[in-house]
Amino acid sequence: MNRAIIEVTVKNKYEKSFQKGYPLIHKDAIVENELEGKEGAILHLKSAHGKWIAKGYYGIQNKGIGWALTIDQQVDIDVSFFKQKLEKALSKRKSFFTDPNTTAFRVFNGEGDGIGGLTIDYFDGCYLMQWYSLGIYSYKEEVLEAFEQVVDYQAIYEKKRFDHKGQYIEDDDFVKGTRPTFPIIVKENGMHYAVYLNDGAMVGIFLDQREVRQAIREKYANGKHVLNTFSYTGAFSVAAALGGARKTTSVDLAKRSKPKTVEQFEVNGIDVAVQDIVVMDVFDYFKYAKRKGFTFDMIILDPPSFARSKKRTFSTAKDYPMLLKEAVAILEEDGFIVASTNNASFGMNKFKGFIEKAFREMNASYKILEEFSLPADFQTISAYPEGNYLKVVILQRTS
Ligand code: SAH
Repeated sequence: MNRAIIEVTVKNKYEKSFQKGYPLIHKDAIVENELEGKEGAILHLKSAHGKWIAKGYYGIQNKGIGWALTIDQQVDIDVSFFKQKLEKALSKRKSFFTDPNTTAFRVFNGEGDGIGGLTIDYFDGCYLMQWYSLGIYSYKEEVLEAFEQVVDYQAIYEKKRFDHKGQYIEDDDFVKGTRPTFPIIVKENGMHYAVYLNDGAMVGIFLDQREVRQAIREKYANGKHVLNTFSYTGAFSVAAALGGARKTTSVDLAKRSKPKTVEQFEVNGIDVAVQDIVVMDVFDYFKYAKRKGFTFDMIILDPPSFARSKKRTFSTAKDYPMLLKEAVAILEEDGFIVASTNNASFGMNKFKGFIEKAFREMNASYKILEEFSLPADFQTISAYPEGNYLKVVILQRTS
């Protein structure tokens, strides 16, 4: 394929960051250029004086307009480039491939592995490629060719996450190979999860929470009544139940969450009858629980960064303290809160500030027991700290 090459001028103040390996090309970082409609074009980033800076591609995401791929002028963005990136990424995940107790993990994490806009996850022999812009998707043939040179697979599925708002485009998502029977039952530290690669934007489990699920199971859940809010398929509830929770209550407003959660319990041999699965807006549930006088020993908060329902919009950056206050109001004396967010727009310090604020306003005290960010398979680079979007704090209420 003959690709357009476009020279773009990087504004002065952004030059240094690209030289240090900052990968994201912000709209503001370059001097206006006619790029519209040229998704996938190779960008040659140069200084105002025409000095070479880096090579990247044009692909619009909500974060920026493309990614720098190399500072080496001689490197071509071709099959061998992708092959080399894939090989390096795969070699970093060797210990995951050989772990018999975990069969689902990320093998390629976008800019963390050298190609912003593309992630690849492994699910027991099948792979899921996620393309975050039309620009990166235009490299699909090259990426697949490289991939097939370095990986044996049963099937490849994909998610195209690049219509105008970085949303998922509906499709059956099969790319190549032999279709497995869904669900695929993957293992994660010995727990089981049902995964569907062919059924919508989300596959049934968020792999980045692996360490948090393990901590809940091993250290915190035993004997507890656990409230799991924004529970989706109940992955945290499964971990809690397997960790000896007395009971779990999972709350999500999506109707599909109920059968999905039942399925996750069942594939783990957990008695569903003792678990509560509630299809309800979380904020209505808090009101209901307060009215009924329900309290919990452990409350898990893992909301989407932004959610709009019929009744309200919720934005973690604005509303997290309020969410925490609702949780504190129904938390037992020595109870635990697992506070999680995947919002990349703020860091751990600000997140801890939300916790501080919520407890102060509730006249309650707490101590932080543990903190988590992305696990090792979600490789990140120091030049791009905002790529480590996950922040999880496990805290205990103190008296
Ligand atoms: N914690 C989950 C992932 C959450 S995904 C896990 O570990 O797997 C976000 C979920 O929040 C979605 O299932 C969505 O249906 C739900 N959701 C969004 N807004 C909600 C609200 N106001 N009340 C209840 N659930 C909500």
